[in-house]
Amino acid sequence: MIHLIRGFKDILPGEVELWQYIERTAIDLFENFGFREIRVPIMERTELFSRSIGEDTDIVEKEMYTFPDRKGEFITLRPEATASVVRSYIQQKLYTTDPVQKLYTIGPMFRRERPQKGRYRQFYQIDAEIFGSQSPLADAQLIFMLVSLFIKLSVTDATVHINSLGCPECRPKFREALSGLLKQVEPQLCEDCVRRSTRNPLRVLDCKVPTCRDAIAEAPSVIDFLCPECREHFKTVTRLLDTMNVPYVLDKRLVRGLDYYTRTAFEIQTGALGAQNAIAGGGRYDSLVKTLGGPDTPAIGFAIGFDRLAEIVALSGRDFSKGPEVFIAALGKDSQARAFEWHCALSMEGISTEMDFSDRGLKGLMKRASRLKSRYVLITGEQELEQGALVLRNMATKEQVAVPVDCVVETVKSMILQ
Ligand code: AMP
Repeated sequence: MIHLIRGFKDILPGEVELWQYIERTAIDLFENFGFREIRVPIMERTELFSRSIGEDTDIVEKEMYTFPDRKGEFITLRPEATASVVRSYIQQKLYTTDPVQKLYTIGPMFRRERPQKGRYRQFYQIDAEIFGSQSPLADAQLIFMLVSLFIKLSVTDATVHINSLGCPECRPKFREALSGLLKQVEPQLCEDCVRRSTRNPLRVLDCKVPTCRDAIAEAPSVIDFLCPECREHFKTVTRLLDTMNVPYVLDKRLVRGLDYYTRTAFEIQTGALGAQNAIAGGGRYDSLVKTLGGPDTPAIGFAIGFDRLAEIVALSGRDFSKGPEVFIAALGKDSQARAFEWHCALSMEGISTEMDFSDRGLKGLMKRASRLKSRYVLITGEQELEQGALVLRNMATKEQVAVPVDCVVETVKSMILQ
């Protein structure tokens, strides 16, 4: 037997209904907020990710699935979606019709991390991006939409953590101050942080190793270094969140693992999942479109960890799997042939219908109908066909009604939809 690759998983029927429910809820909500779907490939040229996410990040340094294709060109299974959406915005010149584009995309991402509960090598993200607006209203809208999705999905244990990472003008001053502190505490830092402290000091702030956390407990706050414009932007974002009654925590440690963020950075954290407590993250990336060769276009986006969100929604114990509305129990060859027509016609009419293709007896058919969780069973045998009336049984109430053979589809449909 050939097994799955480590860190990859199947999402099986029974579980997939929950995923579909989340996906539909997200799509409906995002479209109400004016977002449109974009589908981008799952493989891109490696340099798209190394240039956007940053050479010194964990993702690019250690986690990407990169390999030469048959002609020796390096390609990468996407570790996140933003870079591809930005590439498409530039390449397809989406800005020519309207520089403001509100886009969402849902799909699998790939990172070669150490697998554990809530962390996979193929995982899914629900992603939304707003291009072409530098207004703090865009930041607030995106965060509000994200929080609304959690509310709609009855996820209550979720907190918005928010920070500002400044801009190319003010961030270097913060970086310098932070580097100064990191030099002093270097002996207490883990191996990764020693390396990060020269190449990407901000990343030390979100190291989870306890000794590193202690060593930088007194680290300066990026908020104290913001330039007047970044400060004003951040103040307006938080004021808007206050107005919209979105609770949040100001989190000076929040830096996010990707290099392209500027100004607002945010994360949704939960206590429901143990170690993997981030269910969504995002932020502004005002320089990325230009860096990747497009027009100077501000942008902001988020990515929700779909797997983690599904794990939380599943905790409610609600059963999202649905059986067919009608199971047609047909006894004998003649009945089966007629049942097949009704099965096809009802399914076409929007009534989910199932039937059995074997020659099982009534007891076996009823067993299968209840195993499938059918709401109704339509029973047809030689006798019923002769008498011109079938039996429709409500599986919950056990109530039975007669259905005339010459108008099965109409009668069943009207009974079920009433
Ligand atoms: P990021 O793209 O790193 O900002 O991640 C956004 C969200 O994706 C995180 O908050 C997680 O919920 C989810 N995520 C990231 N990496 C993984 C992974 N390896 N397995 C499952 N979910 C992940």
